Amino acid sequence: MDKWAVGVFASIDAGLGVSLEVACDLGITTVQLHTPHRNSRTPEKAKEFLAKLADYGMTITAVFCGFEGESYESIKITAETVGLVPPLSRAARLVESKEIADFAKLLGVDAIGSHIGFVPHDTHSAEYKDVTAAVRDLCEHLKKNGQRLHLETGQESVEGLLGFIHAVDTDNLFINFDPANLILYGIGDPLGALKKVGKYVRSVHCKDATATKGTPGVDWGAEVPFGAGEVNAEAFLRTLKEIGYDGPLTIEREIPQEPARQKTEIGQAVHLIHSIKAKLL
Ligand code: MG
Repeated sequence: MDKWAVGVFASIDAGLGVSLEVACDLGITTVQLHTPHRNSRTPEKAKEFLAKLADYGMTITAVFCGFEGESYESIKITAETVGLVPPLSRAARLVESKEIADFAKLLGVDAIGSHIGFVPHDTHSAEYKDVTAAVRDLCEHLKKNGQRLHLETGQESVEGLLGFIHAVDTDNLFINFDPANLILYGIGDPLGALKKVGKYVRSVHCKDATATKGTPGVDWGAEVPFGAGEVNAEAFLRTLKEIGYDGPLTIEREIPQEPARQKTEIGQAVHLIHSIKAKLL
């Protein structure tokens, strides 16, 4: 794969991403795939998807977990519903995460992405130990598949994130760095954070946002097209160069309810990334 291959967050039959057809129209060659519905995660469907991807000349760089019942409606509801942290759904979602990983293996994909949720802050609590154990269990399963787990950044401070990676203590746990999420969740300066976690970054989202005018950490900021927010697209790519990142640059624009606008704005992001690449590479 080329250095900084441009990609997009895409879906086959579900989720937040654009369709493969749209990605193909935009000349994109790599995708992170939002996990397909359970009934699509079969060896036959995997073959079908791979044939379709080959037709489009595309490679899947990661499969992202998503679960029934997750909602990003507000920061509070996100904390209550997303990922492996909510205790009531944890066991079932852990099983499903492993099924998603096995399906990703059928697709020849060696990275699973996951927004595991809001890791508890008290590192001595039973809750923290339980979440750590669940993620370790998942990583051990992935290891047997020759896969890595990429944690989606967002709601954790740098210290919290690094502490969690050390607590899980496996050699296949890494980071999918999404600079916009740090702004959306009110964590703060994404590029400073990127420098500190650099050695763990194995995939990124090119996404942008503006900070909330309300209370950071309580009220959402706003997601905006890549290059139009507070991330500073050029500085982001410059920092990626500094930390030695040469994996794909995956554009994420989460407005599936407005497909025409989504396509236009992703097209503009592709153009922007190519122009910055031309300067920096
Ligand atoms: Mg993201």
